[in-house]
Order: sequence, then C-alpha cells, then structure tokens
Amino acid sequence: MSRGQERYHERQHGLSVFGKDLVRRCGAHCELCDRQGVRLKVFEVPPMEAQANFEHCVMLCEACMHQIIHPKKRDPHHWRCLTTAVWSQTPAARVLAIALLDTFIGREDWAMKLYEQLYLDPEEQLWVDSIDF
Ligand SMILES: [Zn+2]
Repeated sequence: MSRGQERYHERQHGLSVFGKDLVRRCGAHCELCDRQGVRLKVFEVPPMEAQANFEHCVMLCEACMHQIIHPKKRDPHHWRCLTTAVWSQTPAARVLAIALLDTFIGREDWAMKLYEQLYLDPEEQLWVDSIDF
C-alpha cells in the first residue's frame, strides 16, 4: 500500500470510529438542512487536519454535500436552511453554515440580514475565515 493510500485508510478508519457518535448527535437529521429519512454522510469541515477530527465532522445529506462540493450548483432556495443552521449547537455545523452563508452575501438579501444578526466568538470567526468556499 502506498503512503497516500495508507493515510486515506487511516482517515476513513478515524471517521468510522466517530460514526456512531455522529449518528447519535445528529439524530438522523442532516446537520445543515435538517432533512431526515435520507442517507447521511460524514463531511469534514475544512481546514483538514492531519488526523480526522471529530470536532470538524458533520453529517450531511447528499443534496447539501453535492452543492458544497459543486459551488456552481448551489441553489439559494435550498440554502434558506441556513437560517436555522447558523444557530446550531454543534460548532462545526454552525461554522460550516456561516461559511456557506458568506457565499450568498451580496446576492441574496436574506443572507445579509441573517449575517447581521450573528455573533461569533473570535476563534469561530478565524475558523470561518479560513474556509474558502
Ligand atoms: Zn442537507
């Protein structure tokens, strides 16, 4: 096995260790759009660290995952879900939601209004700023 493959497998293993805890935390709901009854996958909120980090993981449905990975396919209507997600109790979900919200500012009025209501502690602000969507 190459070193790259080894790292990939280690990472997958790390993520699978978190799996149960993530499923418990999200209660089978997508942690951004709150959909349930759909397949959820682990998404690691950037920046990626050398080791998979539970605190950076969120459970997302395929619609959210797909639109995060393909910025051109982002549908503002779908992302109205951020109105709730930015208040998530889970820091990784909150930070991810705010970083995504940021991409709609200047394009969607609701995004700016929502952004103005937010308060982030400095550490979370740095985390949001480090995400380049
Ligand atoms: Zn979703």
